[in-house]
Amino acid sequence: MRLRARLLHILAFAPVTAAVAGALGVTVPVRAGTPAAPRPIVVAIDPGHGGLPDAAHPAQPFDPGAIAASGLLEKDVTLDVGRRLAALLRQDMVTPVVTRTGDDWVDIPTRERNAIDAHAALFISIHCNSFSDPAAGGSLVLYPGPQSLPFAQSVSDLLGRDLGPGGVGDDGVQLRDNWWIHNPMPTATAEIAYLSNPREAALLASAEFREQVATALRDGIEHYDPDIAARRDQILAWQRMHHAAPPRQARVPQSSRSAAARVPTAGSVFRTVLAWIAGVVAAAALVRWREPVTHVTVIAGSITVRVLQGTLFRRWSGRRRRRRARVEVLVRGRQRWTRTHSVYDELFL
Ligand SMILES: [Zn+2]
Repeated sequence: MRLRARLLHILAFAPVTAAVAGALGVTVPVRAGTPAAPRPIVVAIDPGHGGLPDAAHPAQPFDPGAIAASGLLEKDVTLDVGRRLAALLRQDMVTPVVTRTGDDWVDIPTRERNAIDAHAALFISIHCNSFSDPAAGGSLVLYPGPQSLPFAQSVSDLLGRDLGPGGVGDDGVQLRDNWWIHNPMPTATAEIAYLSNPREAALLASAEFREQVATALRDGIEHYDPDIAARRDQILAWQRMHHAAPPRQARVPQSSRSAAARVPTAGSVFRTVLAWIAGVVAAAALVRWREPVTHVTVIAGSITVRVLQGTLFRRWSGRRRRRRARVEVLVRGRQRWTRTHSVYDELFL
């Protein structure tokens, strides 16, 4: 009886308690009807080198990386491949953290810190190789320690699979235990191909080859970490559950103005007749004075060709001169820079 009385008591006071709680803003825990979206996996992408010489700030460091005989710069190749890889990973619902998004000089500790702060699960650094013997070639993947070896091996295998048929050999993996020593996540440095090898430098200049490299890197990353594909499927399933299909675009009715434009008016008929008359008169004049007209046309044509040839040649040679000067500045800057301060020396600071 006492229990029954207590239950009745609680039931009688329940609405009052709820009203008071509501008025005071007390929140009653409710089971969430909408589960949170699965969190994307983060992968750090590190385009090697970067930065331009700045005449106004001569002390500011810059680092073009290796330079091909054609003038192609390692920093430009790595940035482009990095952007392509980021786009491919985004398609698989990965959040890429790119350590250098423009032509900027970023030191090694900052690159490491950005990846660590973003909770990156993996770290892939993109570089091009270079050697004194121009015949040296192939792709090589470096890793900082044993915990990174399986990741480096996966990246190396996929680079070998995709680039081998095009003539870039598979040089396997190599321990480089003084690079990326602060990274807690599996880390690999992909030396895609040699800029010092003219054949491989020509490949590195092509958009098609860079896309092939980015695809191989993505496959190497996803082959090593099957969680990426699993998480992608979870995220896509969640999006299907929680997002309605985008509404169909309603067909816009034709405006009365555009319909009116198609109806011929007296003015437009008059203009058409005038154009016809002008055409007939011009044709008759051409037939009547064909010899002087031909003469004048030939002279005007030859003058135009000569002017264009001169302008084009000047423009072409000017561009070549400017490119040579730019590369010379970079080579001199790089020699000075590496003599005093290699970009990787900072790992020991
Ligand atoms: Zn490099």
